[in-house]
Amino acid sequence: MEQTGALFVVSGPSGVGKGTIIKNALERLSGRDDIQVALSVSVTTRAPRPGEIDGVHYHFISREQFFELLEKGELLEYTKYAGNYYGTPVKEVEDRVRRGVHVLLDIETAGAMEVKKNWPQAVLCFILPPSMEELERRLRARGTETEESIARRLEIAENERAKAHLYDYQILNDTLEEAVDQLVNVLLSWNQKKGKREAN
Ligand code: 5GP
Repeated sequence: MEQTGALFVVSGPSGVGKGTIIKNALERLSGRDDIQVALSVSVTTRAPRPGEIDGVHYHFISREQFFELLEKGELLEYTKYAGNYYGTPVKEVEDRVRRGVHVLLDIETAGAMEVKKNWPQAVLCFILPPSMEELERRLRARGTETEESIARRLEIAENERAKAHLYDYQILNDTLEEAVDQLVNVLLSWNQKKGKREAN
């Protein structure tokens, strides 16, 4: 099977602004005809937050459904994060990559390492917060988490930050515009490399 699309993994602590950076980067690229990038929609056992739509932000499923997918080998990677399960449906990724579409995965660090193991040509990007104090401020300002969840997410964030050096790119989210620019540049430069390989 010839794979022409690339796999891009974006990780970073909860509250760092990953979702917004990814959304803006995809919007920036959506008008171009030389590159196609799609965001993978994960499955999760977490309850939807207000405003989250099933099939758009996540496929919200039960634990039973999650373990059925896992047993059938339908997840590219999975993890348990803050008490809930999350996983990447493999079929969607493979279909897109085969069609030359780049796929972006918004996943945490354990999943990212798993992807790199199974798919070594994946490109790994880590989004860094300006500081842990700023991360806590942003997480609180988001208003979606309980105090307990904030505490858990900050603890996980410390461990995740220690893995940033394992990534191909580190993107500092100081100003949103600059962070989006950097992610867009990573995507475009890999797309160009792909174009060159195909032309040869
Ligand atoms: P949240 O609950 O804030 O939506 O996501 C919590 C964390 O889980 C985030 O770091 C997010 O990137 C990660 N995540 C979302 N989907 C997946 C997935 O399919 N696999 C893995 N390993 N992590 C995921």
